[in-house]
Amino acid sequence: MEITSIAIDAVDLGNDYHGDIIKLAEQNKKFILDLFNKLTSKAKKLFGERDKGWEIVEIQLNLSCDNPMLLPHVHYPEEGKKKMIIRTIDCFFSSKKGYRINDCKLIYQLSHEICHTLYPTGDNNVIFLEEGISVYFSFRCLHDYALESIRNKPEYLRIEKYIKDSGSQIDGIKYGKALEYVKKLGKNVDAIGSIVRELRVKTPIISNLLFSDLEKIGIEDNLAHNLVSQFPIS
Ligand SMILES: [Zn+2]
Repeated sequence: MEITSIAIDAVDLGNDYHGDIIKLAEQNKKFILDLFNKLTSKAKKLFGERDKGWEIVEIQLNLSCDNPMLLPHVHYPEEGKKKMIIRTIDCFFSSKKGYRINDCKLIYQLSHEICHTLYPTGDNNVIFLEEGISVYFSFRCLHDYALESIRNKPEYLRIEKYIKDSGSQIDGIKYGKALEYVKKLGKNVDAIGSIVRELRVKTPIISNLLFSDLEKIGIEDNLAHNLVSQFPIS
């Protein structure tokens, strides 16, 4: 089911740019909602349905700042209530003429967080498998939505560079590790998706999966151990 009434907003950082970001969010509301719905149906098709007890109440565009909580993430605004806010950071270009949406950053961050919203934990404590699926899906979506449609246009080089830079930024660090483990699950995106859906039949919340659940469906011991390890928060 499509979401049509989600709020598009920004955190009030109390800075001079806040009004501009709110305006940008407002002006691009339809684009952001359409993109959100498109990425969500792709994620659900691959990794299974969203936990229906939870509701996404808002998508935010934000500027980065010194606050470490303002990395892209799923925010749970009210303790004990099953509500989620998707926070994206710096998904725009700024110039003398003002701000405009950076589509590839938005695709990259939205698709990552959308995966987390399918099987929320309520506290951002996740295992490597959950984080790896998000990273994997982000790259897939960049290729599928950002590159194919503009193969012969000038933006192609910009987006290709962005993917390359993102790849080298995560290479060797924890997100890179998570991606590497998930890639070992299957030979292509359909094979990986089908394993994730199979695992979610008994345990819909991915981060509740145990070593034995992965072992049962034939995932090799070492990989299973890595995938169910707790993903470090900082
Ligand atoms: Zn994540």
